[in-house]
Amino acid sequence: MAIDLAAAARERGITYFLISFTDLFGTQRAKLVPAAAIAEMARAGAGFAGFAAWLDMTPADPDVMAIPDPGSLIQLPWKPEVGWLAADPWMAGKPVAQAPRLVLKRVAEAAAAQGWEMQSGVECEFFLLASDGTAIADPADRQKKPCYDQSALMRRYDVISEICDAMLTLGWGAYQNDHEDANGQFEMNWCHAPALVTADRHVFFKFMAKSIAEKHGLRATFMPKPFLDLTGSGCHVHISLWQQGRNAFADAAGALGLSQLGYHFIGGVMAHAEALCALTNPTVNSYKRINAPVTASGATWAPNAVTYGGNNRTHMIRIPDDGRFEFRLADGAANPYLLQAGLLAAGLDGISGRRDPGPRLDINMYTHGHTVTDARRLPLNLLDALRAFAASAPLRAALGEEFARAYVTMRTQDWHDYAGQLTAWERETTLDC
Ligand SMILES: [Mg+2]
Repeated sequence: MAIDLAAAARERGITYFLISFTDLFGTQRAKLVPAAAIAEMARAGAGFAGFAAWLDMTPADPDVMAIPDPGSLIQLPWKPEVGWLAADPWMAGKPVAQAPRLVLKRVAEAAAAQGWEMQSGVECEFFLLASDGTAIADPADRQKKPCYDQSALMRRYDVISEICDAMLTLGWGAYQNDHEDANGQFEMNWCHAPALVTADRHVFFKFMAKSIAEKHGLRATFMPKPFLDLTGSGCHVHISLWQQGRNAFADAAGALGLSQLGYHFIGGVMAHAEALCALTNPTVNSYKRINAPVTASGATWAPNAVTYGGNNRTHMIRIPDDGRFEFRLADGAANPYLLQAGLLAAGLDGISGRRDPGPRLDINMYTHGHTVTDARRLPLNLLDALRAFAASAPLRAALGEEFARAYVTMRTQDWHDYAGQLTAWERETTLDC
């Protein structure tokens, strides 16, 4: 989209731009650039030291130049004099192959070369905590089954409605908000869009929810499992594949209204589930949400095994309606770009390999999962997921070797940081060995 950013600044009253890129761990890094300098920045990019972000670089590497995508411009609804721009990092005159937004663009281009466009919608769950992050902010939010709690939702009306109004202003098609299954937990929904648009909105949503919560003296967190006894924060993704304006997953004659193409896509996602976890469940904490014991509300709502079903929330994949499926594995820590890129790459592999997802399971996996003896279990920790990803030739090839190497290196360092902790549990259980 050809947008003259200097002209847009004059027309819309923008005095500053945030030129923002998202690193491998999903952290947004930005330079705040006055409108007077935006024309040059739009051409040459804003300079960053890559090593200072979560990128696999060294202090000796040249500057990363983040070149803004003018089509991604969003005026901060809570501070409209600032315009946010998603940017793509370049170094030494070449795109940075490990940069997550560029990884998604590459996979989307591979899909486009075959005539496909992935449409996706994300369901962001998050907690509103007291500003120090230690406890939920609302002491009255204590129901054992707090999901859809009207009073608890309305006690947070000022924050939730401000975020929702912002999404309406931005034209995202926001359509519902609720209190979720954990005390202090909320979810806000907006419409599906092409994967890159959804990913840009997803990173912006996280920034916006945190910023607006902060304005209200609260702290929004997307941490997958901030409290062991409460349901964790997932990030369910609804997926369909489109060709020339037609939903190629829709087929009235297919089982549950899903086409053969849709089932091959699901077959790919299932075949690569363990490896995908490295992207969709990218933190040490992620594995305390999946494979978790039952929470206070009665269910974790997170999958434990690689299975799919109809309109049944106990499976990794749910087919809730004609022409789309829901991937329920991902969590709030997933890098929005890598989440979309990983799913699309796995799905395309499923299509090219005509992968069969096997029979649908119409059982409650929480109570009868043990009866399914041939279902693969999800990885128990980040290291297992990273090893599965490192061993997945199709995903590595689709996402790019340079990205895969950088990601595994950085996340494995993260694992070693964790493994290097000496915990109170170890002392308690091992001191008298
Ligand atoms: Mg939910």
